[in-house]
Amino acid sequence: MRTPLIAGNWKMNMTVSEAGAFADELLNNKLNQGVEAAVCAPFIDLPVLIEKFKDTDIKVGAQNVYYEQSGAFTGEISAPMLKELGVHYVIAGHSERRELFGESDSDINKKAHAVIEAGMVPIICVGETEAERDNGEHTEKVANQVKAALQGVKAEAAGDLVIAYEPIWAIGTGKSATSDDANAMCKSIRTKVEKLYDKGVADSVRILYGGSVKPATVEELMSKSDVDGALVGGAALKTDDYTALVAGA
Ligand code: 13P
Repeated sequence: MRTPLIAGNWKMNMTVSEAGAFADELLNNKLNQGVEAAVCAPFIDLPVLIEKFKDTDIKVGAQNVYYEQSGAFTGEISAPMLKELGVHYVIAGHSERRELFGESDSDINKKAHAVIEAGMVPIICVGETEAERDNGEHTEKVANQVKAALQGVKAEAAGDLVIAYEPIWAIGTGKSATSDDANAMCKSIRTKVEKLYDKGVADSVRILYGGSVKPATVEELMSKSDVDGALVGGAALKTDDYTALVAGA
């Protein structure tokens, strides 16, 4: 049985004081206990969120990491640094990182390894462009991204992973994939994971959909066989919307 996961991705939003206020407000709301709730925040917001959520089941995630352990990498943050803070999830390979910051499949694979070695769980993002979907290349593109990200990741760790399918054309556009299209891709990712490992790993890995998910659409999405949750940008920035997302999952 895969526990549903609603992970907010705040992107470059929320100052430390705003993050603290969000946490205080969220703690006043009653979250659906059958669903795992996570908030992936800017690095500087992580300490306040970890402190506020310490007696709750709400998990805190980072949005990026550098794969080296330490050293002369000005401006970067390592996996051991995040682990010591109490970070649970780390997003690796969001399309914004791939497109705006030039991250390659190989970088993302190294990040996944660093996160796992430090004892955290990567949320590996994959997804096609609109042109790739129009050309019918989306399934192969995503399967290749999954394979590249998981290169060398052992089966013991792979079962705990989270993979987020985020079609680039659906991110921040209000134009979500249909629940059937989202499910078809999540199913195809699961099949790819089974090919790379085995059925046990494929059955336990959680596969999320991301791209313009809203409280009004989450329930329909979650009713699908292979969608185990959502990675949510815009709609995760307000506590009431976030609470509604968790309630609908
Ligand atoms: P939106 O929910 O704002 O479309 O963002 C999706 C996303 O990129 C989450 O990582």
